[in-house]
Amino acid sequence: MPVASLPEIMDRAFRKRYGVAAFNTVDDITMHGVIKAAEQSKSPLIIQISVKTVKFWGAKVVKDMFTEMAGRATVPVTLHLDHCPDPQVARSCLEVGWNSVLFDGSGLSFDENFQHTREIVKFASQFGASVEGEVVAVAGVEDGMGSESEGDLLPIERELDFIKETGIYCYAPPIGTAHGFYKAAPTIRYDRMQQLVEATGMPMVLHGGTGLTHDVYTRLIALGAAKVNISTQLKKTYADGFRTYLEKNPSQYDPLKLIGAVQNDVTAMARGLFTIFGSEGQA
Ligand SMILES: [Zn+2]
Repeated sequence: MPVASLPEIMDRAFRKRYGVAAFNTVDDITMHGVIKAAEQSKSPLIIQISVKTVKFWGAKVVKDMFTEMAGRATVPVTLHLDHCPDPQVARSCLEVGWNSVLFDGSGLSFDENFQHTREIVKFASQFGASVEGEVVAVAGVEDGMGSESEGDLLPIERELDFIKETGIYCYAPPIGTAHGFYKAAPTIRYDRMQQLVEATGMPMVLHGGTGLTHDVYTRLIALGAAKVNISTQLKKTYADGFRTYLEKNPSQYDPLKLIGAVQNDVTAMARGLFTIFGSEGQA
């Protein structure tokens, strides 16, 4: 199956009200692990990469690895750049064929963010790529991006201006979720999610997807969260996978057994989320 665009994956999810997991993969083990999971669960999939990971590997290496792995997959898979505050980095990914980017101008003034987002949308359209937008910072630092606390909420009219006038494809709404592990149960603004979807008809992105209850996932997906970002959970599964295997097998030196075990853990974690998000069987 050829690599899919973000709208090819999210439009259907939005219409049928299921969520597509977007995993922040960090390497070949995790990328292949979640693709395998998607194939086994017959689920669409979003491979998402943080700026930190792009800087580690390079945009072209990630893209080539993705094309090799996703191009052979039996389900639709797309490649997305997560929270990117630097237009240059976003452009460098789009130039080598990434499918979509989140231009995160939430640290800029509204007007600057608006301007930059509009330019990135225009740039991306030359490559048939799409843009996710963000106005109010989601709470919690993730891979060196973001701030500890949620940004100041804007009047909804301002958010709607941004959503409608920049030409973004999907939107990261400030609804009380946060990156990292939740120290206390978050207060979710379901009403805001509902108002945004009703006023725009645009698919929304759930940031801070790790560690929410099934009920929260289900309600937000029913309201229109068609993409559910999972970063922290993947990192935890990955690190725990190495630790557990090495503790259990202290004299085992076969790297393929080690990374195979870690990859199986990542695959199992992803499959569990496809079931919860309702994307299982949708591809
Ligand atoms: Zn995020």
